[in-house]
Amino acid sequence: MNTTSSSTTPSHFLRTIIEKDLAKGTYANKPWAGRPGPASVQRQANPDPAPIRTRFPPEPNGYLHIGHAKSICLNFGLALEYNGACHLRFDDTNPEKEEAEYVKSIIEAVEWLGYSWKYQDEDNLYFASDYFGYMFDFAVELVKAGHAYIDEQSADEIRENRGTLTEKGTNSPWRDRPVEESLALLHEMRDGKHPDGSMVLRAKIDMGSPNINMRDPVLYRIRHATHHRTGDDWCIYPMYTWAHPVEDALEGITHSFCTLEFEDQRPFYDWILERLVELDQLDQPLPRQYEFARLNLTYVITSKRKLNVLVQEGHVNGWDDPRLPTLAGLRRRGYTPESIRLFCERVGISKADSRIDYGVLEQALRDDLDPRAERRVAVLDPLKLIITNYPSGESELCHAPVHPHKPELGQREFPFTRELWIERDDFEAEPPKNYFRLYPGNTVRLRYGYIVKCTGFNRDENGRITEVHAEYIPDTKSGTPGASRIKVRGTITWISTEHAVPAKIRLYDRLFSDPHPDAGDKDFVEVLNPKSFETVDGWLEPNTVAKPGAIWQFERLGYFVADPIDSTVEYPVINRAVTLRDSWGGK
Ligand code: ATP
Ligand code: MG
Repeated sequence: MNTTSSSTTPSHFLRTIIEKDLAKGTYANKPWAGRPGPASVQRQANPDPAPIRTRFPPEPNGYLHIGHAKSICLNFGLALEYNGACHLRFDDTNPEKEEAEYVKSIIEAVEWLGYSWKYQDEDNLYFASDYFGYMFDFAVELVKAGHAYIDEQSADEIRENRGTLTEKGTNSPWRDRPVEESLALLHEMRDGKHPDGSMVLRAKIDMGSPNINMRDPVLYRIRHATHHRTGDDWCIYPMYTWAHPVEDALEGITHSFCTLEFEDQRPFYDWILERLVELDQLDQPLPRQYEFARLNLTYVITSKRKLNVLVQEGHVNGWDDPRLPTLAGLRRRGYTPESIRLFCERVGISKADSRIDYGVLEQALRDDLDPRAERRVAVLDPLKLIITNYPSGESELCHAPVHPHKPELGQREFPFTRELWIERDDFEAEPPKNYFRLYPGNTVRLRYGYIVKCTGFNRDENGRITEVHAEYIPDTKSGTPGASRIKVRGTITWISTEHAVPAKIRLYDRLFSDPHPDAGDKDFVEVLNPKSFETVDGWLEPNTVAKPGAIWQFERLGYFVADPIDSTVEYPVINRAVTLRDSWGGK
């Protein structure tokens, strides 16, 4: 794939870090056996051909969202830029919430964004659960060396004794138990001899540390639960903070990028890896963790857990509902991989937390599609216009460019006839000030067709306008010498009723009416936008073939996609991806 070169992309501090490491040769001689493993596996291997290794480590407990895209673009993007490797690693150390369905959706999302975890002949797709054996061996070494112990305090006691930001913690009564005792209990834990919650393995660091994360963090807990890949092989599961540095080290990761909330974990990340080097389980150079600000977007929520609530409670139609900020939803909505990569590039990478306006995402889609989307006409809210001086049964072709700036794409042609569909709001019986479209007595251009003069209209018994009448002015057809003979201020789009293609059109809007739907302890379900979804029966320009996934600009309306799942050529189902202009205006 094409990546934006660093000369056109604003640089950022993570690039600077990588470039320093490359200049110093920090990782130049790091061996790599072509597969993950501890020092015993890597030590004899040749130097890693990849100058850097990054990873994207999702937990398979939901579908990926636009926030993950930032991390994907960062990690895979930097690897591509420096000819390195980026691993896709499923961080599946938590048996309870993870499912194979999510693994599949995550693989699809990363591929759809255009990235690959293959590097030369390596297939760097990994599961943290494959490392459970190594993790257990490492834990045994830590216990033997006096760096970890089995604590039999309850979860509540551990929490109470951890202290606070201002008060030191209290040592566990089990902290100084003999190494042999901890070792025997660790094996018993693994062998299923103890119930959930009865004991944990903790690192022995410093209960007086000003950093709470260094106050003897828990490494292993007991969970008699079935894991989506390892089944019932294990009943102890590593805590994230312990598993993560080990996963990085086993995979030979050089730069481990994570979001800011892990900054306080970095001392433990380094501590644990350094102990494992001392214990001859790992070798220098070790991976290093660097933090960047997560992506926050107005009008959406980016938390798999909260998105799960919307899906499970039926507020949306599944994880790929086009209103969701999941990558599956955005894809269905009409977002392209290019638009999402463009968005991530524009948002940039920094260490300062911020909230990006949703309009920035929409603008990235417009900017991606404008130069390439084919143009068509559609009518979403049809009103019949009768050209009373045009004979019924007759027709003539009109022409329009497929793309206004790409003459090489050629022309569309469609017939002009006596009866046309126009947009209902392109006519007003009593026009407001500065209304230049159709109203009795006014003249407008039918785009790519004739100038017409409105002569009247009909209403039904409820007062609703049922049809509008006009007369066309011969000699004014677009593209003919007489076209500019008469000046008009309004131009409207139209489709011959006889030739129009019927379509279900889904009009999506923002899912929440509050720009910060989950700020503080707000209940995001309360601020759902009741008008976020509407279906209308509309009409498409003749010869519009609605192949699933086809994307067009419907003139004056916006960008639309033939729903990748529900649309067929015979029964087009079209989603509005984004309007032509931002109608929400800022925040
Ligand atoms: P969630 O709360 O939605 O589950 P998470 O951070 O727990 O998010 P993971 O599956 O653990 O989800 O995330 C995988 C990677 O994506 C992590 O490295 C994480 O830092 C990154 N990530 C997740 N959300 C964002 C975000 N909003 N902005 C940038 N990176 C993110
Ligand atoms: Mg998570």
